[in-house]
Amino acid sequence: MVPIISRKTKIDKPKEHCAVFGVTCDDIGFSVSQILYTGLIALQHRGQESSGISILKTGGKINTYKRKGLVSKVLNDKILSRYWGNIGIGHNRYATTGSEGFSSQNYIQPYHFKNNEIEFSFAFNGTIPNFEEIKKEMEDMGRIFITNTDTEVIAQLMASISLGTESWPEIIKTASKFLDGSYSFIILTSEGDIYAIRDPLGFKPLCIGEKKTEKRNLYFIASESCALDAVGATFLRDVKPGEIVHLSHQKDIHSELQIYSEKTALCQFEFVYFARPDSVIDGISVAKARYRMGQNLARQDPLLKNLQFKENAIIVPVPDSGRSSAVGYSKQAGIPYVEGLMKNRYVWRTFIMPGQKKRNTAVHEKLNPIRSVIEGKDVILIDDSIVRGTTTKQIISLIKDAGAKSVNVRISCPPVVSACYMGIDFPTCDELIAGRCLKQYGITEYVEKIKEIIGADSLLYQTIEDLEKAINLNTGLCKACLNGIYPLKSINKLSNLENSIKTSRT
Ligand code: SF4
Repeated sequence: MVPIISRKTKIDKPKEHCAVFGVTCDDIGFSVSQILYTGLIALQHRGQESSGISILKTGGKINTYKRKGLVSKVLNDKILSRYWGNIGIGHNRYATTGSEGFSSQNYIQPYHFKNNEIEFSFAFNGTIPNFEEIKKEMEDMGRIFITNTDTEVIAQLMASISLGTESWPEIIKTASKFLDGSYSFIILTSEGDIYAIRDPLGFKPLCIGEKKTEKRNLYFIASESCALDAVGATFLRDVKPGEIVHLSHQKDIHSELQIYSEKTALCQFEFVYFARPDSVIDGISVAKARYRMGQNLARQDPLLKNLQFKENAIIVPVPDSGRSSAVGYSKQAGIPYVEGLMKNRYVWRTFIMPGQKKRNTAVHEKLNPIRSVIEGKDVILIDDSIVRGTTTKQIISLIKDAGAKSVNVRISCPPVVSACYMGIDFPTCDELIAGRCLKQYGITEYVEKIKEIIGADSLLYQTIEDLEKAINLNTGLCKACLNGIYPLKSINKLSNLENSIKTSRT
């Protein structure tokens, strides 16, 4: 799904755009709708604005139900019993509140395509920056579009290609030649097949699993392995970058073909923040990667040489994504880990509330420091990332108000200095605190300035080199928001800032 650049919402964390989940079962008397629900619930963290499912009924008719809201609200018992079939796909979507056309059903996925020649349903995680060029060419050839999304462009593209071939692997392979973007998508065909593809650079995770019982065999495709765990499936493997996988209720799972790429570019933010810690992506445990990020931060921390400071220090994570790194830091430093911030789980969506005033209230509603453990202590606060800096500033202020002697911020992700064009909802470079300060104060001063703005007593970021070591993925990561080097051909307009960062870091 393409990010809406002129967004009204001011987020203080990058937002993943979507989750996909699919299942096929060889027992036509079994309905997979409840399993789709469970898989989508496990992937709720990747998208909370809308949800939907497409199910193939016996006889080849695809039924799609999708609405705005959380999975538990959209897919209630009544809907799940009405949408019955042994093959289905589902989708969770994140979209910017108030973004163009969002209220329309056409913007919610799965995207159900039907004309006189072909019917299929399609669920997509990613973005295609060059989609408007493809759309223009197709409009010139007479295609009519009802939305302005890359989702519809991909669907219409595949429908056009299907006029020349009935082979779905060929259709997908041909379509992928036009798509210069980050994507993992799944297709449910009216013949009862599920096809999945991960883009050749492997920006987005995608994995497959199975569950075999005496009565039936089920095969799964999911954005993250935590969804396979949730439905009791066995994780088989990740879909390889550029691979097209076929899930057949008659045969099993098999690879159709792979579009090879010399390098890969899995989004580093999957490990830092997006993915659930209980997921494993491309063979790397997210929890362990975060733990190693914490260990690295402790190894680099000059404050730990001060024994007096160490004796009075406690490690406090920003819940939830700071936890695994905080445990790693605590273990490495030999300083106690303390849950010093209590999270109110019932206001979890407030970080995407529009308007600064509302966001200020939101942080107070969401987090409450525990004075009895913080008072008089030198707090080492561990968080996953700093984006705008507004939330971090408020958390520091809360901890100081609770009587902390000092607040020392340690961040798992290196400074985020460039915008993302690969499907993550991100502020512009000038709205990023590190991007703005780097531009204003230069490479030697900017971290000190960020420290002053957020009101911390000290600030330490992970280096890009240590982040790579912590993730330990030898096939390649996207780090464009950290170093301004974009892996896609269509994103060639780097700003002066991004160019200067590139020069200073390579
Ligand atoms: S630019 Fe950053 S957020 Fe975007 S895909 Fe690359 S690593 Fe992920």
